[in-house]
Amino acid sequence: MISNFQRSAGSLTQLLAQEGITDQRVLEVMAKTPRHLFIDEVLKHKAYQNTALPIGQGQTISQPYIVAHMTAILRAYGVTSKVLEIGTGSGYQSAILAQLFDKVYSVERIKALQWQAKRRLHQLDLYNVTMKHGDGWQGWASQAPFQGIIVTAAASSVPQQLLEQLDDGGVMIVPIGDVEQKLMLYTREKNEFKQQVMADVRFVPLVPGDII
Ligand code: SAH
Repeated sequence: MISNFQRSAGSLTQLLAQEGITDQRVLEVMAKTPRHLFIDEVLKHKAYQNTALPIGQGQTISQPYIVAHMTAILRAYGVTSKVLEIGTGSGYQSAILAQLFDKVYSVERIKALQWQAKRRLHQLDLYNVTMKHGDGWQGWASQAPFQGIIVTAAASSVPQQLLEQLDDGGVMIVPIGDVEQKLMLYTREKNEFKQQVMADVRFVPLVPGDII
């Protein structure tokens, strides 16, 4: 029997395909990942709408389209093994990454969100995500280099330390800007970096400094 969850997630991914997401693996994984487990009880009826939703602490779970788009970009650039995510938040993006890449590292500055995200991933039997409570601007030097880096909060300028933690041939996808934000793609060949603009986006800020 098809559950409500399967039906709703199925229509969400159909919509994402209509909106231009062509990576079938990304669509498959999103169709089987229960987004309703990553948001508050009171907002659950909106879990399969293509919108960002509040997750507490002034933060949001990203819009499904942008989750799919950013993940598909990493895959299109050949990322398969080791990915660093900045901004764990609800853990939904981490859950998608965990099913597509060998090993995921995720950094979050708000401890309460990180704990909740960890619990949810274990509930879904996803154990290949390692989490850290820390400042994403610093990345995760002891685990570097990474084949892919995905930043899910908007940086005021490109975080240099993250560029340094990219492997040769690696790619980083990151929203840059304050009110006007651009989703930027950085690619590394040896010590040369190239950048390109991928889309106009709207993310919560990548907060500088203190972790809480
Ligand atoms: N990927 C998340 C999106 C969460 S919103 C999801 O799927 O739900 C962005 C997250 O980035 C928030 O949880 C916020 O607390 C976190 N964040 C903001 N600034 C940060 C920083 N400097 N270091 C680490 N995490 C940060």
